Amino acid sequence: MIQTPYYLIDKAKLLRNMEKIAYVREKSGAKALLALKCFATWSVFDFMREYMDGTTSSSLFEVRLGHERFGGETHAYSVAYGDNEIEEVVACADKIIFNSIGQLERFAGKADGIARGLRLNPQVSSSSFDLADPARPYSRLGEWDVARVEPIMDRINGFMIHNNCENKDFALFDRMLTQIEDRFGSLLGRVDWLSLGGGIHFTGEGYPVDAFCDRLKSFSDRYGVQIYLEPGEASITGSTTLEVTVLDTLFNGKNLAIVDSSIEAHMLDLLIYRESAKVSPNEGPHSYMICGKSCLAGDIFGEFRFAEELKVGDRISFQDAAGYTMVKKNWFNGVKMPAIAIKDLDGSVRTVRDFTYADYEQSLS
Ligand SMILES: *Cc1c(COP(=O)(O)O)cnc(C)c1O
Repeated sequence: MIQTPYYLIDKAKLLRNMEKIAYVREKSGAKALLALKCFATWSVFDFMREYMDGTTSSSLFEVRLGHERFGGETHAYSVAYGDNEIEEVVACADKIIFNSIGQLERFAGKADGIARGLRLNPQVSSSSFDLADPARPYSRLGEWDVARVEPIMDRINGFMIHNNCENKDFALFDRMLTQIEDRFGSLLGRVDWLSLGGGIHFTGEGYPVDAFCDRLKSFSDRYGVQIYLEPGEASITGSTTLEVTVLDTLFNGKNLAIVDSSIEAHMLDLLIYRESAKVSPNEGPHSYMICGKSCLAGDIFGEFRFAEELKVGDRISFQDAAGYTMVKKNWFNGVKMPAIAIKDLDGSVRTVRDFTYADYEQSLS
């Protein structure tokens, strides 16, 4: 038995996403790059590499990890590079995408050995979360003015547009792509490649994958561009659980159970977006609020139903725990970070990383 807490990556579940991604590549002609900011657990990169073209990044460290641990095509992007970073970034990447014309002008010369692109912002998005909306008012994420982009066209051969966010609705994706064509059509025919970013939930249950592929294919035929997709969440959705153990139960008007993990430290995105964790099947007569062990009052995973009363030592699995979790875990309250374990296709489970007091101590000085 592995000591909880630990993230458990199930390769059989990961494989379902990988097969869908491989199908979309095959049918649409698009290439697929793993977005490392969502998921960077490199122990499964050997496995994912068979189904994806490479990685995309949001920093020097990510582009280096993609280059060293994943291989294949390696896209570099960052909201802003520093003078001290650019040479190493260029050495790790085969394409670099600048967030602004200012960054392009500053660094294009240093990047003249690799393909260069620019991020465009179409000022439309699918997101209802202001925090995660690249098209929010005054957004710093990409250039939007065609007249300003025109003069630098001879210095780039591609664009990146990332304006979807957890978008499960193909019709909405389709409409937003049309808006991109209306706005940037005059530029699209003049580049070799276009990355459509992440946030498209095309590996989800019931997504009309064939219509999606047809739309991508006709787009790339029309403008003569190689399309890239940058799935983060879509690559790993539903593949991983966070395994925890009940440490204490209380009744304070509601049944409470405290577990050996923390939503603040181990599933931070849920807290930021005010979403509940997921427990399956979430059925039965006994209702509990499941709480983390940090001292943050709102460290609560959610309220769930169970078949039996919970008692100390019981195990709970939080579902869908791969994306924006392991990359964001932190040492708040000194709570032990969850180990990382992998369930192989033959059903055997092995721990690939454990975290100790020394890791905590060495994260500070
Ligand atoms: C965040 C991000 C992604 C991945 O987004 P998901 O929602 O996890 O698919 C891809 N590309 C860019 C530029 C991003 O900022």
